[in-house]
Amino acid sequence: LDGIDPLNTLALAVEGEAEGLPLAPGLDDGLFENDGQLTKAEIRAVTLSALRPRPGLHLWDIGGGAGSVSIEWMLRGPSLRATAIEARPDRAERIRRNASSFGVPDLAVVTGPAPDALAGLPAPDAVFVGGGVSEPGLLDAARLALRPSGRLVANAVTLEGEAVLLASYAAHGGVLRRLAIARAGAVGGLHGWRSAMPVTQWVWSK
Ligand code: SAH
Repeated sequence: LDGIDPLNTLALAVEGEAEGLPLAPGLDDGLFENDGQLTKAEIRAVTLSALRPRPGLHLWDIGGGAGSVSIEWMLRGPSLRATAIEARPDRAERIRRNASSFGVPDLAVVTGPAPDALAGLPAPDAVFVGGGVSEPGLLDAARLALRPSGRLVANAVTLEGEAVLLASYAAHGGVLRRLAIARAGAVGGLHGWRSAMPVTQWVWSK
């Protein structure tokens, strides 16, 4: 790949996409090496919008998974910074591989479970919680660490996670919403809606 823009190389892998990566967030799921633990494109687009990336801001991506949210944050511009915190070492390695494929090798990756793994990290301007929402103390730690006027966005697909988000919304306000996406798929020779698990999202400004 020497001398080839990594973004272009990736983009060429997407059918019909010969001119580089699209400028808007919500990149195709298939561009990210993943094991199924991935915030899907439609949800990711809404999530990035809620996080409000701006030049110079630092994101914590708690429960980094494949790193798609941090990577899309970093792709917003050269001065944005992100730290992905991922409990599983194999996934932390995958985040590093994806970051390098997308040409954002400066994405910092911390391996270990939050909230413990958050100790000592540089303070964030935005926090995304994509995993571990129901981990005791995690959401509070994220909220407290946020810089003033920072944004917190937390997604949950489990009832236990949703219960934590409802309690946070009741205690601190913000916006609580539910995102339900279905993609058409084959049903025999015809087609039907294949629903993804609905995502409950809490968005809060400090
Ligand atoms: N947003 C990611 C997908 C997140 S999947 C993406 O689009 O790539 C949720 C991830 O959270 C999983 O990889 C899981 O290992 C991780 N996780 C769960 N609890 C955690 C915790 N307490 N600390 C850090 N990571 C956690």
